[in-house]
Amino acid sequence: MTSLSSPPSPRGRSSSMRKTMKYIVVTGGVVSGLGKGITISSVGVILKRCGFRVTSIKIDPYLNTDAGTMSPFEHGEVYVLNDGGEVDLDLGNYERFLGIQLTRDHNITTGKAYHQVIQRERRGDYLGKTVQVVPHVTNAIQDWIERIAFESVDGKVGPADICLIEVGGTVGDIESMIFLEALRQFQFRVGRENCCFLHVSLVPVLGSVGEQKTKPTQHSVRELRSVGITPDVIVCRSSQKLKRATQEKISLFCHVPPSNVLSVHDVTNIYHVAMILCDQGLPSIIANKLQMNPPVMPPDMASWAEMANMVDNLTVEVHIALVGKYTDLQDSYLSVLKALKHGAFSCKRKLVIDWVEASDLEVAETNEDFIKAFELIKNADGILVPGGFGDRGIKGKLKAINYARTNKVPYLGICLGMQLAVVEFARNVVGIENATSTEFDEKAENPLIIFMPEINPSHMGGTMRLGSRQTLFHRYGEEVSIAETVYGNSTGVYERHRHRYEVNPEYVPKLEDYGLRFTGVDDKGQRMEIIELPESVHPFFFAAQFHPEFKTRPQSPSPPFAAFIQAAAGLWAGAGKGFQKIGRESPRTVVE
Ligand code: GLN
Repeated sequence: MTSLSSPPSPRGRSSSMRKTMKYIVVTGGVVSGLGKGITISSVGVILKRCGFRVTSIKIDPYLNTDAGTMSPFEHGEVYVLNDGGEVDLDLGNYERFLGIQLTRDHNITTGKAYHQVIQRERRGDYLGKTVQVVPHVTNAIQDWIERIAFESVDGKVGPADICLIEVGGTVGDIESMIFLEALRQFQFRVGRENCCFLHVSLVPVLGSVGEQKTKPTQHSVRELRSVGITPDVIVCRSSQKLKRATQEKISLFCHVPPSNVLSVHDVTNIYHVAMILCDQGLPSIIANKLQMNPPVMPPDMASWAEMANMVDNLTVEVHIALVGKYTDLQDSYLSVLKALKHGAFSCKRKLVIDWVEASDLEVAETNEDFIKAFELIKNADGILVPGGFGDRGIKGKLKAINYARTNKVPYLGICLGMQLAVVEFARNVVGIENATSTEFDEKAENPLIIFMPEINPSHMGGTMRLGSRQTLFHRYGEEVSIAETVYGNSTGVYERHRHRYEVNPEYVPKLEDYGLRFTGVDDKGQRMEIIELPESVHPFFFAAQFHPEFKTRPQSPSPPFAAFIQAAAGLWAGAGKGFQKIGRESPRTVVE
């Protein structure tokens, strides 16, 4: 069920008891890909460390209802939430940076907004009126924002103090006009003192003397002001620190005090962004604008600064071969990358990803592409096959898995990476030569991986097994599993899913006979969630049907990823031994 069938309704706006929510609206100018998501997440980190509770909303001005049907190659990874929402990858940044759990309604798209209004029109809610973009769609957007901003996302009772709203795209795009108009009206609905507009823009640096050009920012702010929004803060992305003169010029032409023109110049790692914004006075600028008294001032940035510096000083490398099919666009594996990085931080290793295009492993072994790709596999400390769809690159991935298994190289398989590990095992250990998945061959004679029963193949949007589901750990005699060890409990765990296919239960006994362990199953015992090889056979071979990468945090890495990096770095002591709080600070339990 999506929220579309039960449209959000504004709640209790007239209630005098309701807490005053403060909003920070972030727009982007000049070009996309400026790091707006990182900037706003960093603002959130600062506000949290000022003692505020923070939530966030992402607006995506496209007509798709959600990101579920969009190609990762075009749009980057599809991020999955606990409630099964398939959303823009920026929501992953918010969850990771702010330690919150969002819902599908925290991602508003043009498609969702229109769908809601059209549904209401069909129901006769507008009583014969002409239904128009203004006010009907703009009101629906504002109602939606107000409703969802008040949902608790941090597990505490009651709403957050501040809601960050990111408007996707660039100011001036036709697509985002309707949202900017809604937000222009919104500042009057909630009160000017409760709404801070922050514009992220680009200051290119030209020539050998490094001239900082302000014109693109001037134009984009003019564009923003032409739709009735005056920014309170301008954050300038630039390769260099902004000069005083540049700041003053932007201030003069963009109607913003110089102190509110901030520099986000290139830094050695993304965690420094929060530090440089803090150093330029962002906490007091926002507190003044929103008329708030931060409980902690100056914000307590100590552990964040420590992490930013620690990341700069990592020297011992760990090489992970990531065998995928969108390796040109690294955003398509964003959460996997983050989880690997967080895992590497936890054992003080510098992560080096060796991107291996799976199809390069499918060509003749004398081919240059093959030689290069195979060299990376051979030199890797660990091999990872992430999630994926369709049959492109499958043979190459199977080859990489075979290499990891037979050469005892630490292996982590995610979703498709688990399904293929089962196929590889069936073919090469059990001896079922034509073992495959029905995703690649509908009429497979030996379908090791099969279609999930609850699927509706005629409708691609929102038909997968999605979101947070429980996995229960399963023991083989006295043998403690990797699963139990990494998650720090013997019961189970909730992780997020996004798949249509699963291991065919008919083959499980046979695979077990040959030594494959199914150490995690669903709550009905029907779906295989985790496979492993025992330590006597392989030092670290672990794969999951779920996607643990969606719940990783910089200071609390996803347990399977942390353990995998440990194994790759030669630090893994083995299942049941010495997994010392490498994952969560406190072990995750099955209770969500
Ligand atoms: N294509 C596989 C499935 O649908 C795996 C999905 C994934 O890796 N996310 O089950």
